[in-house]
Amino acid sequence: MPEVSAIVVGAGIVGLSVAYGALRNGVSVMIVDRNPEGDKASFGNAGGIAVTEVVPASVPGLWKKVPFWMLDPLGPLALRMAHTPRLLPWLWNFARVGTASEVRRISTALADINGRVYDDLLPLFNEVGLAGDLLQKGALTVYESENGLRNDMHDWDAKRDLGVEVQELTAAEIREMEPALSPIVKNGVFTPQWSHIKDPKRVVDVLRHWLVANGAEIVRGEVDRVVPTSDGAKVVLDGGREMTARKIVIAAGAWSGRLAKQMGDRVLVESERGYTTTIASPGVALEREVIFADRKFVATPLSIGLRIGGAAEFGGLEVAPNYARSKALVKLAKHYFPDIREEGGVEWSGHRPTTPDSLPVIGRSGPSSNIIYAFGHGHLGLTQGPTTGKIVSDLLLGRKPLIDIAPFSVARFSLKKASFYDSPDLFLR
Ligand SMILES: Cc1cc2nc3c(=O)[nH]c(=O)nc-3n(C[C@H](O)[C@H](O)[C@H](O)COP(=O)(O)OP(=O)(O)OC[C@H]3O[C@@H](n4cnc5c(N)ncnc54)[C@H](O)[C@@H]3O)c2cc1C
Repeated sequence: MPEVSAIVVGAGIVGLSVAYGALRNGVSVMIVDRNPEGDKASFGNAGGIAVTEVVPASVPGLWKKVPFWMLDPLGPLALRMAHTPRLLPWLWNFARVGTASEVRRISTALADINGRVYDDLLPLFNEVGLAGDLLQKGALTVYESENGLRNDMHDWDAKRDLGVEVQELTAAEIREMEPALSPIVKNGVFTPQWSHIKDPKRVVDVLRHWLVANGAEIVRGEVDRVVPTSDGAKVVLDGGREMTARKIVIAAGAWSGRLAKQMGDRVLVESERGYTTTIASPGVALEREVIFADRKFVATPLSIGLRIGGAAEFGGLEVAPNYARSKALVKLAKHYFPDIREEGGVEWSGHRPTTPDSLPVIGRSGPSSNIIYAFGHGHLGLTQGPTTGKIVSDLLLGRKPLIDIAPFSVARFSLKKASFYDSPDLFLR
């Protein structure tokens, strides 16, 4: 066995970024994935480097909006009924963190990790041949009414307080930046620190090829379990093949929960399925990513076409996708781009690995320090992937990470930490 060796489970953006960080630090790396070059969340996402997203999903007062969103069967939020009983602990924790003090704590941790994103992403993109794929053009969040913007002002102020640049714009200023938008847009916010990439699939493909060219081994296989050994750990594949290493990193996206549970760690990570449609020749041109705040979807001008994406569907990992959601998102887009041509749109869906507190799980497993977790990045896996890779490479080498990773610890899901009696005011909010 080489001096330090690592097996990374998962070849999504997070696993590949971890492998990059390890390799750059002299760690020999093997990546195991059931389908290394195949479809995954990292392949069809909206392409946003969303560093300004520092407010978690669960905030005070959210419960007032949820029933309204769920009234529409193809609306922004859906729960598949058969999955709801299994989702209850996740939902309980989601509600529990929606207090002003928890939102402050979580936002600070998100601002910390997002604040490092360009420090880690730019060198990675430059080295592997993706320098021209990052478009630093900011993003526009648009609203159909003054009320819409005012209702979100608390979040915008919180972001400002955490160092996010926020510029309010009038309808005329927005149309000057994005003439394709219909006059239904009344105001909005420009966030110049946001970027987008040309094509998420290209990013994982180029990174994977670079890793192989630079010595990483990729093994195709379904990991059945991860087992600590006396001087490291081993992965056991379906069929019994075993591979050992000094360290094993679990970066298996929305599938990570099962492997962590086998290790004896309690983790609340759920599939939050999202949908996109990519239209190669939409007949409308955008300069930058646009976020439609009232209707909860986004449009990103990728090199392969206009990608319209959104939806948050909690139905577990096994249920078939409902592409009526992709169609519903295109219908919404027509509202803002009346001239859009939808022919030839390619529909896709993927499992966001989402935790109730919107924070990723990065750090050592409770029972074994040789097993390291890197999953649960929810809406921000593309954004936070390279920084996660940097943090994990520090952990592999026994160095102190550059940011405080305590908020990302798997220990936060421990049953001892969360009980009704810790937050009896939950139902009074
Ligand atoms: C519609 C949509 C839009 C999004 N937009 C953005 C965005 O604009 N910006 C952003 O930052 N993020 C965005 N995201 C989120 C982002 O895509 C995810 O957070 C990220 O891709 C997760 O990466 P990952 O590597 O953790 O997981 P994945 O990409 O899902 O990769 C996990 C890998 O693990 C493998 N695997 C799992 N279990 C096993 C096993 N037992 N054995 C072997 N292999 C296994 C899988 O095959 C897979 O290849 C979006 C997501 C969606 C769905």
